[in-house]
Amino acid sequence: MRLIIMGPPGAGKGTQAQMLIERYGIPQLSTGDILRAAIEAQTPMGLEAKAIMARGDLVPDEVVCGIVSERLDDEDASKGFVLDGFPRTIAQAEALDEIMQERGITLDGVLVLNVDADALIERIKARAEETGGARADDNVEVLRNRLAVYAEQTEPLIAYYKKQGNLKSVDGMASIEEVTRSIAEVLEK
Ligand code: AMP
Repeated sequence: MRLIIMGPPGAGKGTQAQMLIERYGIPQLSTGDILRAAIEAQTPMGLEAKAIMARGDLVPDEVVCGIVSERLDDEDASKGFVLDGFPRTIAQAEALDEIMQERGITLDGVLVLNVDADALIERIKARAEETGGARADDNVEVLRNRLAVYAEQTEPLIAYYKKQGNLKSVDGMASIEEVTRSIAEVLEK
């Protein structure tokens, strides 16, 4: 099963990706997690990404496309994967099409979690409290920027994948369990 999970920041992508990992036995491939690990390890890529991520802006396409291209060659990704947080721009989606084409693989679906902006701000506030502000980009001001970036750069992907016939839209406002159920339903239809 090769999936993308999409939705604005705070929509529950990470949580639902976790469910998909368990259900289908596939790894989660999160560009955000890989970038945070690079920051932690102070690699050149981490140093480049740090300030960009703290502002809630997007890391350059070449950087994240490089991450994904390498990660897809890992043994554990050979049976499938769930991409979380990638692609975020049309250029990234086009690069992913190429990366997959080169490997002779195709997507099984692009899940979009639909949630409203006010609910997201509340969720991010709660996450910032729970984690004691562990993520530099979990505050309301940065969230507003991340939402604006999502609307501008990432939302156009919905039309892109709709045209490809891969789009599977789910109501992300329900409880975690209900969202998980809806995802299973759209995937097994
Ligand atoms: P996430 O954990 O997916 O919310 O990502 C956290 C931050 O990492 C984002 O706000 C971006 O700064 C950066 N990032 C993660 N994935 C991408 C991507 N596909 N393209 C550009 N920047 C990304």
